[in-house]
Amino acid sequence: MDTFSPLTSGDRGSLLSRAQAVAGIATLHAAALDTPGAFPAEDVAALAGSGLLTAPLPAALGGRDLGEGLDGHRELAEVLMAIGQGSLPLGRLYEGHVNALQLVRRYGSAAQLAEAAEAAAAGALFGVWNTDDRAQPLQLRQDRLQGAKILASGAGHVTRPLVTAASPGGAVMLIPRLSPGQGADLSGWTAQGMQASATGRVSFDGVIAPPPIGSPGDYLREPAFSTGAWRCLAVQGGGMAALLDLLRQHLRDSGRDEDRAQRQRFGEAAIAAQTARLWILQSARLSAGPADVEAAVAAVNLARRAVEQAALTLLELVQRSIGLAAFMRPAPVERIARDLATYLRQPAPDRALELGAAELLRREALPW
Ligand SMILES: Cc1cc2nc3c(=O)[nH]c(=O)nc-3n(C[C@H](O)[C@H](O)[C@H](O)COP(=O)(O)OP(=O)(O)OC[C@H]3O[C@@H](n4cnc5c(N)ncnc54)[C@H](O)[C@@H]3O)c2cc1C
Repeated sequence: MDTFSPLTSGDRGSLLSRAQAVAGIATLHAAALDTPGAFPAEDVAALAGSGLLTAPLPAALGGRDLGEGLDGHRELAEVLMAIGQGSLPLGRLYEGHVNALQLVRRYGSAAQLAEAAEAAAAGALFGVWNTDDRAQPLQLRQDRLQGAKILASGAGHVTRPLVTAASPGGAVMLIPRLSPGQGADLSGWTAQGMQASATGRVSFDGVIAPPPIGSPGDYLREPAFSTGAWRCLAVQGGGMAALLDLLRQHLRDSGRDEDRAQRQRFGEAAIAAQTARLWILQSARLSAGPADVEAAVAAVNLARRAVEQAALTLLELVQRSIGLAAFMRPAPVERIARDLATYLRQPAPDRALELGAAELLRREALPW
């Protein structure tokens, strides 16, 4: 499985080093933020201060084209892995921010992109909220919104969410303006991990609807909809790297690094982490501008299973190697394992594997 050539330009490398610096800050805050309703406000401020909130924007609008083209995809993969290594909840939030700005770049008007750039430069955090409250799905009613989103990360803190809303012409994307806390309810987020992602329900009843971004159906347009899952995998891969580091540290500190069984498990853990990393980098590369669109979609669909499987293997190895101490709070390994196990739950994993397999069954050989 080939990957990109290494990052060379110092300019591009600097976004990665900024992400690593933010990740270092997030690592320090992570234990204190492992509580219901928490949100990493200082870490998001550090993202803003480092230029990472505007980085996905075009250079002409003050950005760094992070995530654009082959180099930009490689760079974004490394940035997301670095931030995820520092904090999975912060990585989740940053991934949503990047996704929203990329959707505005791809489908929005010049004026909408300029407006988004201005807000991001002022420190606004974006997100993508697609999951509807089944009982009250979000709808566009003339100039107002009605209904609610659930499982919305950054609820109460993201002031520029990109939401999907049903309209007579089909599902549209829009970015309503919210004030802090508006419509948000975090009481339902009782998941075992990812507490600091502030994932919750947001009601939009009566909120003014701005003009849509793009046309009805754009949100689900392929290949970007399916291939975009690679960014989430990159954040998960960062969490896996953090667990591997903690396992190494534990084995050294406890003097168990010379034990044969522990070495075998550590070797298998390293293989799992690197397997995920290779699938993530391949997914990013093939998503950069796929000559073969179906191959790119299949690669990401299969990468979802590859990373999930590698992460579950890693979690088991880490817990068996460290033992009971891996379950004791406030050990970082205990929190990160909960965060990773929670964040691994993504939509329709069976279908992704089946679709990826079906595409390969149509072909005579692997297309990458
Ligand atoms: C930390 C976190 C943050 C999130 N933030 C956001 C956010 O900001 N915005 C947002 O829109 N969403 C967000 N989500 C929600 C996310 O996009 C998914 O909706 C959610 O994670 C789906 O998980 P699930 O396990 O319930 O998926 P499911 O798709 O329900 O999968 C569960 C199981 O059911 C199977 N399955 C799925 N469909 C069927 C079917 N039709 N028939 C039979 N079996 C089926 C799957 O293959 C799997 O085995 C977040 C989720 C997490 C964990």
